[in-house]
Amino acid sequence: MTDSITRRDMLKHVGLAAGTLAVLGHENAAGEMGEAVETTDPIKPYTLGPLPYGYGALAPHIDQRTLRLHHDKHHAGYVKGLNAALDKIAAAARTSDTASVKYWARDAAFHGSGHVLHTLYWANMAPGGGGRPGGRVEKMIARQYGCYDAFASIFAATTRSVPGSGWGVLSLEPAGGRLVVTGVEKHENVDIIGAVPLLVCDVWEHAYYLKYQNRRGDYVDAFMEHLVNWDAVNRRLAEASYRRR
Ligand code: MN
Repeated sequence: MTDSITRRDMLKHVGLAAGTLAVLGHENAAGEMGEAVETTDPIKPYTLGPLPYGYGALAPHIDQRTLRLHHDKHHAGYVKGLNAALDKIAAAARTSDTASVKYWARDAAFHGSGHVLHTLYWANMAPGGGGRPGGRVEKMIARQYGCYDAFASIFAATTRSVPGSGWGVLSLEPAGGRLVVTGVEKHENVDIIGAVPLLVCDVWEHAYYLKYQNRRGDYVDAFMEHLVNWDAVNRRLAEASYRRR
């Protein structure tokens, strides 16, 4: 499991706003949330944080080459794309030339969601993960799905059947106080607005194709059985519940 120092260090480098930090699996949520962004602080570009473990740490379930390319090239590209899109929107605001903002707003949603989802994904995996959730997540799953195995089959079926490129996402939907599983398309489509992601599984081909080729289901099974960091998911649930109050 990742230790709290590493995770905090990662979050520091991620450069997300305080509200977004709440979904990223912090232990000291109340304290960190207290560090509100002042309106006079200069706005910093988003940055790519380091992986919370080594490139080979998730092998053999996710191979070293895939993890290196995925983090250093793909995730880095989302961070770069997000900053670029926001720069374009800022420039449009300065010049009142708003003809292109429709395009750049969509681009910011795509790259921004990609950045947040990858940050969640790295931290909701760990060497020696998988198995039963334990804690409050397991209790909520039991109440809603009957048992963990029933939930796992729903999550796996949703995730492996995402059309094209996307994600399997388990969220807390705070208005209804329940868990929801959705298959998010690309990075930003088909989710409930306001739902707080607790567990995400990347099923873009770049996440698994070198090792699994077309066998997406085998990768999803390995993710569930060997990689899910349920401690992180339980922390996110506690934090999401804190936000609801
Ligand atoms: Mn990805």
